[in-house]
Amino acid sequence: MSTPEAAAVSAPARSDVLILGGGAIGLSCALLLLRAGRGVTVVDKATVGGGSSHGNCGTITPSCLPLHAPGTIRKALGWMLRRDAPFYVRPRFDPQLFWWLVQFARRCNARDFRRHAVVKSRLLLLARERIAEFIRDERLACEFAPSGTLSVWRHGADFEAARHEARTLAELGVPVEVLDAAAVRAREPALRDDIVGGHWHPGDAQLRPDRYVSALADAVRAAGGVIAEACPVRGFQVEGGRIAGVALAGQVVGAREVVLALGAWSPAIARPLGLRLPIQPGKGYSITYARPARAPRVALVLEERSVCVTTWEGAYRLGSTMEFSGYDARLDARRLAALERGAAEYLELPEGPQVQECWYGWRPMTYDDLPVIGRSRRIANLMLATGHGMLGVTLSAITGQLVAELLQGRTPSLDPAPFRPERFGT
Ligand SMILES: Cc1cc2nc3c(=O)[nH]c(=O)nc-3n(C[C@H](O)[C@H](O)[C@H](O)COP(=O)(O)OP(=O)(O)OC[C@H]3O[C@@H](n4cnc5c(N)ncnc54)[C@H](O)[C@@H]3O)c2cc1C
Repeated sequence: MSTPEAAAVSAPARSDVLILGGGAIGLSCALLLLRAGRGVTVVDKATVGGGSSHGNCGTITPSCLPLHAPGTIRKALGWMLRRDAPFYVRPRFDPQLFWWLVQFARRCNARDFRRHAVVKSRLLLLARERIAEFIRDERLACEFAPSGTLSVWRHGADFEAARHEARTLAELGVPVEVLDAAAVRAREPALRDDIVGGHWHPGDAQLRPDRYVSALADAVRAAGGVIAEACPVRGFQVEGGRIAGVALAGQVVGAREVVLALGAWSPAIARPLGLRLPIQPGKGYSITYARPARAPRVALVLEERSVCVTTWEGAYRLGSTMEFSGYDARLDARRLAALERGAAEYLELPEGPQVQECWYGWRPMTYDDLPVIGRSRRIANLMLATGHGMLGVTLSAITGQLVAELLQGRTPSLDPAPFRPERFGT
């Protein structure tokens, strides 16, 4: 996680809409609210775009099913005690994490999976459309490419076991093609020749996430928004069920509406407001290299190792792993090495010529794998836009659109009921 030095900038004493958190979610909300004619200030404790939105894999993936599939627990148990496995829970006493894991496990059944798969795919398909329009309309220079993604397998049994995922996606209207080994190699020559098969997701896309957030921040400023960096939220003044003031470093500011878009940091900041957000930091890692000579043409998911590979004009990234170790800010060399080992099993040339950055980020994970978008029931002028888990970049524009529509009192483009904060009693 990059936490670069940022010069302190004051937020105005009063804003129309005050957005807490300047990641992909907070900035997308800011820009779409500005376009709806609202006055916006974004505050971030560090530099905007320096959180989970910085070094992620940058894929835009409607082809993503809920994590709580039947069989996930068995798979996770097999992995979780190995320090370098794609999924890891650090053994420790953490009642909140324990409760979160129990809630997650309760949803690993066919009924909940199917129900959430329907909701999630509707959201993601709209998100995919919306982000392409958003990037085009706002001229966000972020290397967006509607180039699809390719998931590949090395073991026949795993590939066969995943056939039902392709069937489920197809039933949900998400484009997918099952490819045999020869078709995979034809599509992606950078892969080794022992790949047994793959799923091609032609509706997926990719962008460069650090450029995306930086282009968003520029667009917010150009549209008249204020961005105050090095401005941590420290607390709230609540009067009559409304936020009357937000305590920032050295000042208290007021706002007509407050949008909480603090990613994995959301629960601790929201707790003093009486909100219990079941969000755990799902730590992931990435290594960014200069682009190798024979880089993959399309974004890849190396399935058995859960490694994602993305190539841009001047860079190449290996990313992923899911670690539940609380707010642990260490870069674990074992997990970074596991990315490289995993990539070497699938790619002829798994690494780039120079490492540009080793990074970790905390994904804001809810136990039902759906984001939290909507007004708080407890605090009248508080809107939540958080809990986007593994898909916050993909969901950024649609979240901004839903938040703008809800704040403007317009009919939302999609039924927001499944994402309402009330489902967690908040
Ligand atoms: C390895 C990895 C790969 C991923 N790959 C993808 C992918 O391919 N596609 C995809 O769609 N998603 C991906 N994700 C998920 C995606 O990165 C997140 O869902 C998304 O970045 C969340 O955005 P956000 O704006 O909610 O949070 P963040 O980007 O984390 O922003 C939260 C902001 O809040 C600020 N903040 C925190 N505390 C305070 C405070 N007290 N006061 C003020 N500001 C504060 C932080 O500084 C930060 O800037 C990946 C994540 C990881 C870790």
